[in-house]
Formats: sequence, structure tokens, C-alpha cells
Amino acid sequence: GIVVENATRNFAGQQVLKGVSLAVAAGEFVALVGPSGCGKSTLMRLIAGIDRPDSGRILINGRDVTTLRPAARDVAMVFQSYALYPHLTVAENIAVPLAMRRMSAAQRLPLLGRFWPGSQARRRGIREEVGSAALALGLGSLLDRRPAQLSGGQRQRVALARAIVRHPAAFLMDEPLSNLDAALRVHTRREIVEIHRRAGAATLYVTHDQAEALTMADRVAVMQAGQILQVASPRAIYADPDDLRVATFIGSPR
Ligand code: ATP
Ligand code: MG
Repeated sequence: GIVVENATRNFAGQQVLKGVSLAVAAGEFVALVGPSGCGKSTLMRLIAGIDRPDSGRILINGRDVTTLRPAARDVAMVFQSYALYPHLTVAENIAVPLAMRRMSAAQRLPLLGRFWPGSQARRRGIREEVGSAALALGLGSLLDRRPAQLSGGQRQRVALARAIVRHPAAFLMDEPLSNLDAALRVHTRREIVEIHRRAGAATLYVTHDQAEALTMADRVAVMQAGQILQVASPRAIYADPDDLRVATFIGSPR
């Protein structure tokens, strides 16, 4: 699971995270919601290891990862702006995290020109992982295409497939569906929940969409101005909000 203990983060003298604590158990799906600028992405970056807290700790499966680099944390991230490698095929894009395992930075750079590294057995293993991730996301027939030949929705699914090949302990998703149209969002939502269930991972999912949070999540964390106001089941958040700020944000009938 994911544990955040009393994390703070300041930017230019402004305290953006004011001592945030949050726990997401293995197998649990928690939606993180709150107004724009409240600190959601900042918190996600601390857990992913792209940024460090000024104080507090981050644990993944009980291990203190606060100062570890992202690749050493056993987490996978999917963001709104999914960066795919334009010169690689779908299959190669999905394989990147696997291909880069156990490689130094110097070995990684040329890899992106000449793909599929290692022994035949290792290559076969990677291809199998890529194949099953692609299948889970309906990308089976697109493996040899390049990102420019895909729709936005298909590209986002490649980014999701790339996250699941690693079988991480934690999935971090920051508005992964916000570039998709309404119909595709609903469809992809279901796939994400399915992937989460199968992986048994701890998933923290940022969304601006209340319906998404209330329907997908086991629990919803409501954040405002750098603090978590309440973490509870969708039913409790909606029907029994702790305070007026939660009620106002969620739109509870009060
Ligand atoms: P949104 O819903 O719009 O994505 P958010 O909740 O993800 O918002 P954050 O991106 O975490 O918000 O930003 C929280 C606050 O921290 C904002 O006021 C933002 O301007 C500020 N901030 C974030 N990153 C930096 C940075 N690198 N330098 C300075 N300020 C930053
Ligand atoms: Mg954000």
C-alpha cells in the first residue's frame, strides 16, 4: 500500500501541502478530489518520487521511499499528458519500463534507437508481458503502429498499458481520462477499475469528475488548500460529509 505521513511542501514561501497524511491499502482504489490548485498533483509527485517533501515520509508497502528515485519505488504513474515516444511502435512504448530495467543511464539512451534488448529469453518474456497488457486494454491489433497513427484515446491506453506491465505495488493516476470524450471516458473508467482489481495494487486516482470519483473509488479523499479534509466511502462523503467545505465541493444535498 501507499502511506503518506505528514508531508509538507513549500514553493516560494507558500505552503502548498500543509502536513498531508493519507493511506491507501493494497487492493484499495482511492479517488483524490479537490479544487484546482489545492495540491493534488504536488502530492502525487511526492509519492511518485518526481519531487520530495520538505518534511514527512512516503512509504510503499511498508518501505520508506521518501528519498528514493522514481524507478526504485515500485510505483507506476499515468498523467493527463501521456508522453509516448514518437519513434517507437505501440509494443515498444509499452515495453520501455521493462526494457530499461537493470540498465544504467548510459545504456538507456541508445536503447531508444535500437530496441528489444538482452537475451532471447528476456526478449520473449518482455513480449509476453507487453502482449497481455495490450490485450487488457484492447490494443492487440495496434502493436506495430506509431503514436502518430493512433487516436487520443488509444494513446492514453498505451500509457495505461505501459503502467501495468511493471506490476507495480502502487498506481498513481493524475486525471488520466481528462483528454478523452465522454463516451470513451466511461468505457476507459471500467477498464481502469478492472486493471486495478486484477493487479491488487494500491491505486490513487486524481479526478475533477465527481461522478468518476463516486463510482470508481472504494474511498474518496477530499482535499482543499493543501489539506485532506475527509477520507471516506463515496456514500459517506456524499450523504454524510464531515464539514461544509466537503459538502459544498461534492455537492451533497444539505
Ligand atoms: P489542478 O486540479 O488544477 O491540477 P492541483 O490540485 O493538482 O490543481 P497543484 O498542481 O498540486 O494543484 O498545485 C498546487 C499549488 O502549488 C498551486 O498554487 C501551484 O501554483 C503551486 N505549484 C505547484 N508546483 C509548483 C512549482 N514547481 N513551483 C511553484 N509553485 C508550484
Ligand atoms: Mg493537478
